[in-house]
Amino acid sequence: MTNIQETSASELSHREVQLPQAIARLENATSATILCHVQPDADTIGSGLALALVLERKGIPVQVAFGAPDELPESMREFPGTHLLVPASQVRRNVDLLVTMDCGSAGRLGKLADRLENAGETLVIDHHRSNTRFGNMNLIDDSAESTTAVVAQMFDLWGVDIDADLAHCLYAGLVTDTGSFRWVQPGTHTLAERLLDTGIDGARIARRLLDTHPFGWLPMLSEVLASATLMPEAAGGRGLVFAVIRQADIGDLRSEEVESVIDIVRTTSEAEVAAVLKEATDGSWSVSLRSKSDVDVSRVARYLGGGGHRFAAGYTSTGTSSEIVTSLVDSLG
Ligand code: AMP
Ligand code: MN
Ligand code: MN
Repeated sequence: MTNIQETSASELSHREVQLPQAIARLENATSATILCHVQPDADTIGSGLALALVLERKGIPVQVAFGAPDELPESMREFPGTHLLVPASQVRRNVDLLVTMDCGSAGRLGKLADRLENAGETLVIDHHRSNTRFGNMNLIDDSAESTTAVVAQMFDLWGVDIDADLAHCLYAGLVTDTGSFRWVQPGTHTLAERLLDTGIDGARIARRLLDTHPFGWLPMLSEVLASATLMPEAAGGRGLVFAVIRQADIGDLRSEEVESVIDIVRTTSEAEVAAVLKEATDGSWSVSLRSKSDVDVSRVARYLGGGGHRFAAGYTSTGTSSEIVTSLVDSLG
C-alpha cells in the first residue's frame, strides 16, 4: 500500500457521520454484525436488537452478540429479536458492516473487539460523552438520553414504522438509561408516549428490568450496605461514599442484583460522588461511579481507563479493594 492510500484509509477511519449517512450505509449493507457492550444493559441490547430486526426485515443477514458473559441477562430475555443473538464464539470474522451499540470505546466490546479488524466498515452508534470515535463512521449524539433514542431518530428519518416489537426494545433502553424517567429532557416523554402508544406494556418491561429481584438480594444488600463507607473530605470536600461487593456476597445472584446497588448508594446526601466496587470472577474489579452536580465522573473514569457520562461512569481495575479506593480518591482530587 502506498503512503497516499494509507493516509486516506486513516482519514476514513475516524469520520463523524450524521443520520442520513448512517442510514445510507445500513441500507447498502450486504451483511451486518451488531455488537453490544460487555456486561450488557437494556440500552445496548435494546438498540442492537431493534436495528437487527429492521435489517432482518430488509433481507440483510444480521447477527447480534456481546463479548461477555455467555448468557443474556435474564431480565432481557423477553425482548423481541433475541432469535438474532449468537454466542460470541460464533460471530463471523468477516462482515460487510459491523455496528457497535452503546459502546464508548473498542474495549467495551471485550473479546469481540478483534472483529473490528476484518469488517468492511464499522459504524459506531452511541451517546457517551467519552466516545473515542473508534469506528470508520461515528454516529455519536451525547445529548441523547439513550442509544435507543438515537436509534428511534434514525428509524424516523429512515421511514421505519416503529411497531410494538421495535418499541419494546427502544423503550427498554429509554426507561433504564433515564433512571425510570428521572434524568429527562424536553422530548423524552414524547418519545416514551409514542413507544407506549404501540401497545407495549411499559409497566411490565420496567418491572422486569428494574424492580424484580430474588429474595437473596435482600441479605446481599444488607451485607454490602452495612459496610458502606463515607469519606466527607474526598472529592475536594464534596464527599465520596462507596460500597464493595465481593464474589462471596454475589454467590448465585444475577448481574441485575449487583448492578442495583449503585442506585441505593448514590442517594447518600453527604456525598457528591458514589462508587460501587464489584469483584469479577477473575478477581478484577468493575467500578461504577455516580455524581450529582459538579463532578464530571466521566473524566475521572477515563483517567482510570474507563469512560461514561458526566454523572454516570465506570472503569475496570485490578488490585485490592483498598488500592482501588486510594487511586479513586487521588483521582477525585
Ligand atoms: P455502570 O456503572 O456499569 O452502570 O456504567 C455507567 C456508565 O459508565 C455507562 O454509561 C457505561 O457505559 C460506562 N462504563 C462502565 N464501565 C465502563 C468501563 N469499564 N469502560 C468504559 N465505560 C464504562
Ligand atoms: Mn450501556
Ligand atoms: Mn446507554
